[in-house]
Amino acid sequence: MTTLEIKDLHVSVETGEGMKQILKGVNLTIKSGEIHAIMGPNGSGKSTLAYALAGHPKYIIDSGEALLDGENILEMSADERARAGVFLAMQYPVEVAGVTVSNFLRTAKTAVDGEAPKLRSWVKEVREAMDNFRMDNAFAERDVNVGFSGGEKKRLEILQLELLKPKMAILDETDSGLDVDALRIVSEGVNRAHQANDMGVLLITHYTRILRYIKPDFVHVFVAGKIADQGGPELADRLEAEGYDRYLNA
Ligand code: ADP
Ligand code: MG
Ligand code: MG
Repeated sequence: MTTLEIKDLHVSVETGEGMKQILKGVNLTIKSGEIHAIMGPNGSGKSTLAYALAGHPKYIIDSGEALLDGENILEMSADERARAGVFLAMQYPVEVAGVTVSNFLRTAKTAVDGEAPKLRSWVKEVREAMDNFRMDNAFAERDVNVGFSGGEKKRLEILQLELLKPKMAILDETDSGLDVDALRIVSEGVNRAHQANDMGVLLITHYTRILRYIKPDFVHVFVAGKIADQGGPELADRLEAEGYDRYLNA
């Protein structure tokens, strides 16, 4: 059993015109096997939470912590975080020219396990995982995210859940830019990894669409840098019907 406990997190970002505080006291606990959805209007700070947890240098932790079984991941390097079992998928994935998908996945696996995977079984594992995501084998030899469609980028992210088997996955706008078929394939991947490895999931999304495929146990409404409301899956249905107006006008 793994627990990620975000405690009173305050985060500022360098805007170019000075620092601006975006996260204003986020409290959230995610346990193994739980799926939490964070929903909220644009600009409410959802991606800032993901970047802060990822250790992006532009996002400054003013106070608070994010404890993975008691260890503060905010003080870890990217490799330490990955080895601790935390996977982060950003809203805007970066392109990495000169690094093939195949090499990228092998390097990521090596970072997580602390040793390189055995080549033959690894190649087989990657091939099977790619088949699950209806990805052509040629995909493995392309440069990471360079010229990828939105759907291909998201598939590559979720493919990593299957191969790296993290304990906790934080997924920012995994549904953005996906057509219905890609959304279903990507959602099935999240559900598979969730079920196979008892993975905890923090699913950040603006729209309720993906929640038809990935069923959250808990829904949190994010407004102006903190959680303004929380409930079960029925809260997502209410947001679908009513939008965020009631929180913004409060
Ligand atoms: P969301 O993901 O909920 O749409 P974000 O976390 O992307 O919200 O943004 C929250 C607020 O922080 C917005 O007002 C945004 O303009 C600001 N912000 C976030 N990152 C940066 C940045 N790197 N530079 C300047 N402003 C930023
Ligand atoms: Mg579950
Ligand atoms: Mg965002």
